[in-house]
Amino acid sequence: MATNTETKPKAEKAPKQKNKCLCGCGTETARRFAPGHDARLKGVLIRAFRTEPGKDITLVNGMKGKPEVLLAELGWAKYAVAAKPKATKPKADKPAKAEKAESPAQTGVKAKVGRWIQEGRIDSDGLFVYTNSKGQLVSTDKFAVID
Ligand SMILES: [Zn+2]
Repeated sequence: MATNTETKPKAEKAPKQKNKCLCGCGTETARRFAPGHDARLKGVLIRAFRTEPGKDITLVNGMKGKPEVLLAELGWAKYAVAAKPKATKPKADKPAKAEKAESPAQTGVKAKVGRWIQEGRIDSDGLFVYTNSKGQLVSTDKFAVID
């Protein structure tokens, strides 16, 4: 009778060594990164390089160094370049709220008012404003623009 004294604690035969994805997401991968996560870490390092270049960063595999060093070690040395000057201050510079373009009052409009052709402008209310024969500024909604 075979005595099975050998109690294997669960054969963990790893065909390939599993690593935690270097980006820190916790995904296990046979490679250094889960697919696509190299870009993620690259972005993190580039950002760190630009914002805190002197600060050491420790990666999940124990690699430690300043961002530019890690970038270089990971083959991304070319990304360790200073940020363009504009990125220094993250000021939220939202473009001014598009002001409702109040259409500028049209001027030099000729319109027939009653029997007469008058020259004036159309104001924002859509009224035709002109100076009448008495020199008075009048506005009317009864007009026909002539062009
Ligand atoms: Zn990852």
